[in-house]
Amino acid sequence: MSHDLSDKTALVTGGGKGIGAAISRALAGMGANVVVAYRSDSAAAEQVAHEIEGKAVRCDVTEQAEVEKTVKATGRIDVLVNNAGAVRDRLLLRMTAADWDDIIKTDLTAAFHTTKAVLAEGMLRARWGRIVNMSSVVGITGNPGQSNYAAAKAGLIGFTKAIAKEVGSRSITCNAVAPGYVRTELTTGSLTDDMVAELVKFTPLGREGTAEDVAAAVAFLCSPAAGFITGHVLVVDGGLSL
Ligand code: NDP
Repeated sequence: MSHDLSDKTALVTGGGKGIGAAISRALAGMGANVVVAYRSDSAAAEQVAHEIEGKAVRCDVTEQAEVEKTVKATGRIDVLVNNAGAVRDRLLLRMTAADWDDIIKTDLTAAFHTTKAVLAEGMLRARWGRIVNMSSVVGITGNPGQSNYAAAKAGLIGFTKAIAKEVGSRSITCNAVAPGYVRTELTTGSLTDDMVAELVKFTPLGREGTAEDVAAAVAFLCSPAAGFITGHVLVVDGGLSL
């Protein structure tokens, strides 16, 4: 069973911190040449890139021209992980149109920009590829205060399945990973320790998830060994959503 990505180039959006950094490290551990894309935290991305002998590049995934420029400059990309994401939690009646639009742009439309650019730039011609979209269990179960984020993450699942059908004939797989709660900058502040303890109480595996738990699932879906899995949504939540 091959987990070797040694002749492959991987682009990980938001790859410099949190779950993205764990994914960058996991793919580098499989031998991939990893491009760590960041929006604002260049120091974090540079540090991860240095550690894994990859490259950090600034790329705001909501900007189509910037995405196209980054992909062109990178050349053929074999593995694309659409990991960048953000939240803007508010109950619907307090949610502004900007809260809605910004989250849809970052958590859904960005994957359209990157996937289109990567497929056009060489993945289709190479007739091999791996695309993994970072969804969330919230896109499956919903969550109060997260209608924008849940809609975007649910949208990513539909996008994943459509792309899986479009590009399957080229040996390109497209899957989604749906994590439960993982302590990162994204979630710090929105959940108190008591709320986390309550979540753990209802998690069959009895602990919080880690960025490495999620990265392991992404790494598997990016591996040659996962070549007959496409359009799948792999939930990584310790059983919380069962
Ligand atoms: P972090 O806040 O730690 O990291 C988010 C990353 O996304 C950062 O690297 C950030 O880059 C990047 N990013 C945000 N907006 C943009 C943008 N416009 N362009 C490029 N990069 C951007 O979050 P997590 O590691 O927790 O989240 C990673 C993914 O996992 C997200 O898609 C999130 O929705 C998903 N997820 C997380 C869960 C959790 O519990 N943590 C649960 C389920 C899903 P920079 O800092 O440079 O701006």
